[in-house]
Amino acid sequence: MRHFLKEFWVEVAFLFIAIVVILLSILHVNVLAMFSGLVNFFWDFLAEFSFSDYVRIVLVLMVGTILAWRACRRFTRSERYLGDQCPKCGSPLKRVRRVRRDRLLSKILLIPLHRYCCADSVCGWIGLKKPGRHQKNREEEAFEVRDSL
Ligand SMILES: [Zn+2]
Repeated sequence: MRHFLKEFWVEVAFLFIAIVVILLSILHVNVLAMFSGLVNFFWDFLAEFSFSDYVRIVLVLMVGTILAWRACRRFTRSERYLGDQCPKCGSPLKRVRRVRRDRLLSKILLIPLHRYCCADSVCGWIGLKKPGRHQKNREEEAFEVRDSL
């Protein structure tokens, strides 16, 4: 199902829109009135803010963006991200399968992240690092194929 949605998401989205349009026409919903009501609602909502409120919102967004950019830049230059050994004990790393939140985080931060675990079972470190900094083996290449699907 997941592969099907990934492959045909455009078709599924247009099919969903077509079904909604057919349902709205069957139920005789006035789409134009509904749309103008939504626009009016958002327009009234935006009109409640003053100019200084907008300035504050823009400043908070700017500061948040700059802080996030700096934190991301600091992380991508750190040894924890770049190093090819366990940051806790210095042992070699093994690549493990990413979980959904890892892929989401990688897309949000716009940096490639792969999940690794420490080869030393006593250490137990598991974390995200830059991919491709260590020797690949067949098992890891299989992970890359499955991860890219
Ligand atoms: Zn370790």
